[in-house]
Amino acid sequence: ANQLVWFRNDLRTCDHAPLSEALVAAHQQNSTITAAFIWSPEQLQQQGAGSPKLAAYQQALDALNDDLAALGVELQIITAPSWQQGVTDLIELCVRLDVDNIYCHYEPGWDERLRDGQFHDQAPEQMHLHRANDLYSAPPRQLLTLQGNFYKVFTPYKRNLLAQIIDTLVAPRPAPDNGLPAQAAKPLALGERFVWDNPMQLPVLEQQAHERLEDFMDQMNDYSSLRDIPARAGTSLLSTSLALGTLSSRQVLWTIAQRQALTSSNAFLSEILWREFYKYLLAWRPELCLGKAFNPKWDQFPWQTDPSLLQRWQAGQTGVPLVDAAARQLNQTGWMHNRLRMVSAMYLVKILQVDWRHGEAWFARQLADFDFAANNGGWQWVASTGVDATPYFRIFNPHEQSRRFDPDGDFIRKYVPELAPLANKAIHQPTPELALALGYPLPVVDYKTSRADTLVKFKKLGQDY
Ligand code: FAD
Repeated sequence: ANQLVWFRNDLRTCDHAPLSEALVAAHQQNSTITAAFIWSPEQLQQQGAGSPKLAAYQQALDALNDDLAALGVELQIITAPSWQQGVTDLIELCVRLDVDNIYCHYEPGWDERLRDGQFHDQAPEQMHLHRANDLYSAPPRQLLTLQGNFYKVFTPYKRNLLAQIIDTLVAPRPAPDNGLPAQAAKPLALGERFVWDNPMQLPVLEQQAHERLEDFMDQMNDYSSLRDIPARAGTSLLSTSLALGTLSSRQVLWTIAQRQALTSSNAFLSEILWREFYKYLLAWRPELCLGKAFNPKWDQFPWQTDPSLLQRWQAGQTGVPLVDAAARQLNQTGWMHNRLRMVSAMYLVKILQVDWRHGEAWFARQLADFDFAANNGGWQWVASTGVDATPYFRIFNPHEQSRRFDPDGDFIRKYVPELAPLANKAIHQPTPELALALGYPLPVVDYKTSRADTLVKFKKLGQDY
């Protein structure tokens, strides 16, 4: 019987245990090896993804196709309107190719569990799905509080996880070298090509991600001082690669560890572990994928339903310069700076009082780095419904945030050019006269009144609960 590698959000050849294991098995058993990917834009769209993420997938798949061909492995694309159909087609392919061993990575989301469950139910008995764990530095079931519960607070989780990483981290696998003759890559039949210009040149492909990671290591010590300044390139920009799995978090951890001890004071390392924390929560609470709040207490908030509030926020026309600059960065580039994701999400939820799920869906659609766990975790953190979330009364003042993190207005000038003529002092909160003169909208709501109203509503919810 033959071997098949089922690619998912792990579109790379280095540090890919399923690929390496399948190659070894093929060599030992003198059998063939094929790679497959279920391409279902409909399924990904239903999960929230939009053109930037879908285009990034297509680019990563094209590159993977070339890299696998160089290893002598053909990548077969199974195009299907849903994963459900895709799994049926995959099983058929395996039967046709006489494949008994399918190697892949485990994924914790709701649809992903259904997908693998369906495979188990439908596949003939002799067909085995070998699932490697790549997402977690320690299996979620082993990472528990002293009381035996899963962690709901990041800092003790991080302490425990970091200790385990230091004990167990191993070098990522290099690109496999299996001695099979290289093949010529056949162009992939991925159907409609999704458009995303990637003007920020975010690394997407495996090779680009490695280069960026290496370059970023020289900047890592400046990360804590620069990471909150959106006008500066102070962060790694690796999120799209991590979301597609063209880069693994083990590769990041290992690369850091080659340069310095892994300590909890390393701010960049902490963010990599936040990413893992949100995936850890999915292992315990997969129903988060169904639109459920982690903490239902604050979820009964009487949301505003006027659609123009959401539309103006999406279009970058709220009349709050930093919030608008953030929205326009997202729309133009497929990426938004982390500080701005927090400011902009907070403004939508706690000042415009729009249900966080609408914001979550918009980010998902616009982001090239859309990742369900991180996006949902971020939105629920902001909305105070999440795990280790910000308390309901903590509301960022977007004008203050603007003065603090974009003091010279450089970021605002770039994305809201109509405000460019304003002096640094005026640009964060233009007077109505200046705004009107420059063709910039007046604030969609009064910040102070709305903030006070939100607090009253939250307090009432707390009493009623
Ligand atoms: P860096 O600052 O260089 O961080 C390195 C890596 O750590 C990132 O690439 C990312 O993989 C991870 N990371 C950093 N911050 C976080 C975080 N707060 N939570 C989880 N992982 C983190 N990140 C996504 O990858 N996809 C999303 O869909 C997403 N949606 C978000 C929505 C909201 C409302 C918020 C507040 C945050 C969201 N984030 C998301 C987290 C974070 O904003 C991005 O990961 C980060 O801005 C990506 O830029 P970077 O690669 O330069 O990050």
